[in-house]
Amino acid sequence: MAEMFYDDDADLSIIQSRSVAVIGYGSQGHAHALNLRDSGVDVRVGLAEGSKSRAKAEAEGLRVVSAAEAAAEADVIMILVPDQVQRFVYAESIAPNLQPGDAVFFAHGFNIRYGYITPPEGVDVCMVAPKGPGHIVRREYADGRGVPVLVCVEQDASGEAWALAKSYAKAIGGLRAGAIKTTFTEETETDLFGEQAVLCGGMSHLVQAGFETLTEAGYQPEMAYFECLHEMKMIVDLMIEGGISKQRWSISDTAEYGDYVSGPRVIDAHVKQNMRAVLDDIQSGAFAKRFIDDQDAGAPEFKKLRAAEAGHPIEATGKELRKMFSWLKSADDDYVEGTAA
Ligand code: NDP
Ligand code: MG
Ligand code: MG
Repeated sequence: MAEMFYDDDADLSIIQSRSVAVIGYGSQGHAHALNLRDSGVDVRVGLAEGSKSRAKAEAEGLRVVSAAEAAAEADVIMILVPDQVQRFVYAESIAPNLQPGDAVFFAHGFNIRYGYITPPEGVDVCMVAPKGPGHIVRREYADGRGVPVLVCVEQDASGEAWALAKSYAKAIGGLRAGAIKTTFTEETETDLFGEQAVLCGGMSHLVQAGFETLTEAGYQPEMAYFECLHEMKMIVDLMIEGGISKQRWSISDTAEYGDYVSGPRVIDAHVKQNMRAVLDDIQSGAFAKRFIDDQDAGAPEFKKLRAAEAGHPIEATGKELRKMFSWLKSADDDYVEGTAA
């Protein structure tokens, strides 16, 4: 059974007695910086010269300085730029400004797990990883709740790294919901596996395969969209509320019986073998190397795949159909259809 932490297990005054730099002001960065500030923590935001996020952070009344200045001023440095650029920001702006006794924080273990960043001895290395998108982390905190977090310590130079990590987790609201104690290795490998095999890769391609099967058999694409994509949300909501069992309780007996007899025909033993191969590439570092090598080359493979997938017929069908769903418009994010984040 995993070890869990809640508000009573952490001392907020620890992080309140430190100075914190949040490097990056995107999805996670804005949520961490604002939640820390509202928890009475001394926080500054570190951004590159000419950063597009600067105006947003300043509009919230946050002090924005360069990443190097932020790292120099602060003794807790949370790195919240995209994983593929962290090692450049770290080498250029953070490493030269680290002192013994400082702490480097992450919200995902990728760069530590695969050795792209190796902080010096004498520095605590911690992770506080919210299990939700940054915009929800901020919204929940503002509503007096929190998003669950993972907490880990890779290097406990001070002997106080756990207390510090828990204090940070409390300040962003994560311990209102609860934290799970884990390791950088477990967080990184399970996170990559979950998103590749199930949540993103698995689900996107399951939906596409279902849509293709129906349309190739001559059914209307709008019908295929509803049955294979749109209803997904309601099914997933039930699973989140009460597990797979609640979902099966709510659906018709016809649907439930079909789940039992046809589900294993689609997700057969071969799928698990494929999942195991995906996990092998995550554990060996082969996936990380492929991703970073491509990013370093200007992301040619990534961009080609993104363009190809955006051209899947289900996207055009959905774009038209979603005009029917006025309630789906979300007001609190910057998503623009057809663009990258
Ligand atoms: P974002 O893509 O939202 O980060 C964007 C921020 O990083 C912006 O402030 C951007 O500045 C800055 N940035 C981008 N490129 C550079 C660069 N080359 N040099 C300096 N700054 C740069 O990141 P996320 O919040 O998605 O991810 C941050 C970390 O959190 C990652 O480790 C991720 O794995 C982890 N995480 C993310 C989750 C999420 O919900 N997205 C969930 C849990 C963990 P500008 O505006 O100028 O472009
Ligand atoms: Mg992930
Ligand atoms: Mg149905």
